[in-house]
Amino acid sequence: MTQHGHSHRHHYDESMLSVEEALERILGYFDVLDVEEKPILDAVGQVLAEDVTSRFNIPPMDNSAMDGYAVQAADLQRASAESPVALKVIGIVAAGSLPTEAVRPGTAFRIMTGAPVPDGADSVVPFEETDEVERRNAGRSMDEIAINVSVHQGSDVRPAGEDVRQGDLVLEKGVVLRPSEVGVLASLGYHTVKVIRRPVVAILSTGNELLEPGDEFGAGKIYDSNSYSVAASVQRYGGVPLMLGIARDNLDSMNTKLQEGLESDILITSAGVSKGDYDMVKDVLAQHGKIDFWSVRMRPAKPLAFGVLTAPDGRQVPHLGLPGNPVSAMVAFEQFGRAAIYKMLGKSGFQKPRIQAVLDEPIHNFDGRRVFARAIVTKENGTYHARLTGNQSSNLLTSMARANGLAICPEDMPVKEAGEVVEVQMLDWPEEVF
Ligand code: AMP
Ligand code: MG
Repeated sequence: MTQHGHSHRHHYDESMLSVEEALERILGYFDVLDVEEKPILDAVGQVLAEDVTSRFNIPPMDNSAMDGYAVQAADLQRASAESPVALKVIGIVAAGSLPTEAVRPGTAFRIMTGAPVPDGADSVVPFEETDEVERRNAGRSMDEIAINVSVHQGSDVRPAGEDVRQGDLVLEKGVVLRPSEVGVLASLGYHTVKVIRRPVVAILSTGNELLEPGDEFGAGKIYDSNSYSVAASVQRYGGVPLMLGIARDNLDSMNTKLQEGLESDILITSAGVSKGDYDMVKDVLAQHGKIDFWSVRMRPAKPLAFGVLTAPDGRQVPHLGLPGNPVSAMVAFEQFGRAAIYKMLGKSGFQKPRIQAVLDEPIHNFDGRRVFARAIVTKENGTYHARLTGNQSSNLLTSMARANGLAICPEDMPVKEAGEVVEVQMLDWPEEVF
């Protein structure tokens, strides 16, 4: 840095990758996955893999927007509350039925919301604008109706094709299916749809100290949380977790588990990528393909491994090696694993929502890395505020559970002071933050 005349107070290690460089290298190994056809309800959150056009108009025919009477507006030109116009009621039509007769001058058709407007009628008058209630209460004939208002032509008629015209491109390839798109697909008569399939993500924890949740607690042991926090994240972001369980720190165990991981679209391991670990773990990974160990200029989650495993059939499976500490594993997954899943799913953006918040306490940056501080974002008098969850050690998983965002101190800033505006990568949007 100094040789380039920069005046950063922190001189970062040039051999470290920036978050962006690491992300770019990782994403280079992934492509959009293949297409599957599935029931529309099962496709929520997936990316549409075909253009969807309509074979018909929606609505298919002119229909009523109200319960009332289908009329010819010309009959009602002089109608008012003081001098109502009486029309002969020649029939009734409900949604799902067809009118049996055309409306002619001087006549009206009783009509329900969504029912086809009879030929000859151009408008609908709601019940409220007629004497229907008084007439019925007085026991008078319903073969006639008095109308209290004049209406414009087309009033309360929903024209055919108002929403969708036959042949329209309604949903474009590439959109993510939300409840509204699923509803639109149903309205077009689709019961299945072509989407990009979800990636299968194999998840493996490594370590002799790990117990499976549900196992009896043992001295010197800890429960494997990484498999679960990562699998839950995979699920949340649209992947299908394949739980491989725990590999012990020995050759046989690692080899066996890795074989199971070769069926997946990506293998995500945790632990065994920091300097103090058994070299054997790295050797086993190297045997099955190639693996790089990177230092990423971020805190937490500096040590990261990335490589490609080769299956016996020659298939290449990318491998992301997360750090072992539970917060590091989650933060690294958020930056890299999530992006890989999004790319495979065919999503266009990789970012989480980011907001600007006023920082309520400083974030210190000791060694020129990008700090992702666990933060609690609240909204006070219309302004976002971010405070930290306390001790930022990467082993404190409950602090992750208290955070709703990651507040970012850039690598070239030794401190973000209280009162400064900070960018926060939101993990969640709890109700009170809106
Ligand atoms: P390692 O990278 O293997 O040195 O692990 C770093 C730290 O993370 C150690 O304290 C491990 O016990 C812890 N750790 C590793 N894997 C897990 C896991 N799956 N769940 C919870 N903690 C873990
Ligand atoms: Mg270990």
